[in-house]
Amino acid sequence: MKITRVETFAVPPRWLFCRIETDEGVVGWGEPVVEGRAATVRTAVHELAEYLIGQDPMRIEDHWQMMTKGSFYRGGPVLSSAVAGLDQALWDIAGKTLGVPVHVLLGGPVRERVRAYSWVGGDDPAEIADAVSAQVEAGFTAVKMNACGRMNRLATAADIAAVVERAATAREVLGPDRDFAMDFHGRFTAANARRVLPHLAPLSPLFVEEPVLPEYTHRLGDTVAASSVPIATGERLYSRTEALPALQAGIAVLQPDLSHAGGISEVRRMASLAETFDVLLAPHCPLGPISLAASLQVAFSTPNFLIQEQSIGIHYNEGAEMLDYVVDREVFRFEEGHIRRPLGAGLGIEVDEKAVREADGIAPDWHNPTWQHADGSFAEW
Ligand SMILES: [Mg+2]
Repeated sequence: MKITRVETFAVPPRWLFCRIETDEGVVGWGEPVVEGRAATVRTAVHELAEYLIGQDPMRIEDHWQMMTKGSFYRGGPVLSSAVAGLDQALWDIAGKTLGVPVHVLLGGPVRERVRAYSWVGGDDPAEIADAVSAQVEAGFTAVKMNACGRMNRLATAADIAAVVERAATAREVLGPDRDFAMDFHGRFTAANARRVLPHLAPLSPLFVEEPVLPEYTHRLGDTVAASSVPIATGERLYSRTEALPALQAGIAVLQPDLSHAGGISEVRRMASLAETFDVLLAPHCPLGPISLAASLQVAFSTPNFLIQEQSIGIHYNEGAEMLDYVVDREVFRFEEGHIRRPLGAGLGIEVDEKAVREADGIAPDWHNPTWQHADGSFAEW
């Protein structure tokens, strides 16, 4: 079997899909994208495709090595995301060729259903109580929200009170048997995080995410030590090597993104590395159906998996939803906040190729908002 063609599709709301075709008619799908840099990643995918055309798609690891290391300069979100999508598509082809789901190729299922959480509250969280209630009614047992909007470099008393108030509201609606997680989105300085975390500890969040930016991972140890709140990070870490210092700093949860961190191949290895630190895996996934399908294949075969992010109803999905591009929507049906094990071959979804081809070219040129502090200087979004 040989790879004959690699295509890409930029689709609403802000996603990029890739499709690998073979001379035996087996087709694989992947989702190689960095949010806000879809066009750049698209170019990287087509550069890598020059190597892939004519190759045997079943040599996934060999191709992963070539794609990540073959050009001398390596790493970073653009290349790692391009490789990630192509890697997903190669695993999809392997599973379809052998007639089994990818998680069977990864050692078989270790669970029968996967717990997922929903997003509430948007970029600048408001009206948390109603949003959390709606998710509880929909059956979810966990939600995640941003801790705040724009945050002062050193929080005011009002800033701190607002974060704690939001967490307390969520806890009140959820009761003691459900969970909430809070995403600091790198908006906090290490000092802010140290001050706020002890106030959140009595509310028992499942975890607090990205309390400091990845470039300050060397401060993560202080943040972990500041309270008993479990610390999560990883959506902006693209390999085992980048995850290692965070694991050594004492995080509780590692959150690599299947569409950013080298795909199924590398995230699987990051999960194993995390296991040696007694750290749990919660794949980051605010993206589309292929990225979620790839995440689920890892979730079902990874012993130290905790919970899955998913984007249905997320505030970024304007103009299209995750289910718009799949034929059988039942695969992503939630029961009691869980997804059942997908039994289909490969990634376990059937991509609606007609819908994807029609949507290609009408994707908005999505970029994240940029924020300023009150004095006009750059603020973290
Ligand atoms: Mg996050």
